[in-house]
Amino acid sequence: MRSISIFGATGSVGQNTVSIIRNNPNAFDVHAVTGAKNIEKLAEIAIALKANIAITSEDLRLDDLSERLKGTGIAAASGRDALLSAAADPVDWAISAVVGFAGFEISLAIARNGGTLALANKESLVCGGTLLNETCRQSGTTLLPVDSEHSAIFQALNGEDIANVERIILTASGGPFLRMPLDEMAHVTPKQAADHPNWSMGLRISIDSASMFNKAMEIIETKELFDIAEHKIEVVIHPQSTIHSMVGFNDGSIMAHMGPADLRFAIGYALFYPDRLDVGIDRLDFTKLSRLDFMATDTKRFPAISIAHDVMRLGGLAGTVFNAAKEQCLDLFLERKIGFLEMSRLVNKTVQSIDNLGNSDADTLNKISKADTWSRQNVLNLVEMSNK
Ligand code: NAD
Ligand code: MG
Repeated sequence: MRSISIFGATGSVGQNTVSIIRNNPNAFDVHAVTGAKNIEKLAEIAIALKANIAITSEDLRLDDLSERLKGTGIAAASGRDALLSAAADPVDWAISAVVGFAGFEISLAIARNGGTLALANKESLVCGGTLLNETCRQSGTTLLPVDSEHSAIFQALNGEDIANVERIILTASGGPFLRMPLDEMAHVTPKQAADHPNWSMGLRISIDSASMFNKAMEIIETKELFDIAEHKIEVVIHPQSTIHSMVGFNDGSIMAHMGPADLRFAIGYALFYPDRLDVGIDRLDFTKLSRLDFMATDTKRFPAISIAHDVMRLGGLAGTVFNAAKEQCLDLFLERKIGFLEMSRLVNKTVQSIDNLGNSDADTLNKISKADTWSRQNVLNLVEMSNK
């Protein structure tokens, strides 16, 4: 039996992971499961998986969690230290599926253990890819992507020499605003932005998909995961999301990964790797696929893509600054304090002013945390100035 932990078990990725594990009850011994606000769900998961410990990041919810776990023999804990301590407990396999920068230290703690880190928290690679990769290298941790595009690329690269890769083509659905006039896009609400046409995901990543900040993150994630030159990474809009991404080789061949828009393919691949198991994905019926469309990305509509390339050129702490500014802008958009298109303007301004922070290698947690704080404050300052 393999020991496993699930960080962010109550989220969209977390619950999909839980469902796969529940269907394979004898294969796993579950150590820690974690959540934040949804204590009812967290307790239900902990009991269903017979976990050793359930942890909420929110101290005020510990009593509720303890009450629900009474008599089960499952330990209850709360707070950041408890989360990080559980991430440091060695297991064979752990998934980092907390959303946002809060997931970075968790990924880092898992990476010190020498097991397998299944990484859904792409922020970890955007903020601190150098540090995370180096930590995995030193401890012998296997890093497996749990993002549809990156699992697709990982699978297409199986057995290939990375030196023979000419290009990596990330597909993007284009989100709900692909064809909306730009002046209308300025006034969209969080609810409209969260309405993803193909994938069912958490609130934040859904809105990031509408602005294509998610794809921008994924470009950087690709560079960090596969150590591929920036100019070899392309994005193509593919509204059906049937092709999850592609790898082009130096002989002109292209390997494409296809399937329904169901993230369980990527979670299952990381969970059973290098084996494959049926996790209940619908099968593609080619006779019913009427068409596959592709179009270029319009960087006027989606400036996030251009910002991602600037971030990679700047290097160092630019990824941290970029992610933090994006998270801060998303909070402000959710609070209806800034408009949808304001997000990319403010993120761009913040990234372009990185010299005020002083850019350097993103090689320590301390530097990364400081850059994160600086960037969030920079966005708030810019908003305050424009409101004066
Ligand atoms: P979600 O919002 O549905 O779930 C987030 C999880 O993190 C929940 O369990 C929540 O309780 C927990 N959490 C939130 N804030 C926390 C904090 N401060 N401390 C500790 N725990 C906290 O998000 P999601 O859609 O499942 O995405 C999770 C991660 O996976 C994100 O990094 C996202 O970009 C990535 N991802 C998601 C998908 C998808 O299909 N949803 C696909 C690819 C990558
Ligand atoms: Mg993705």
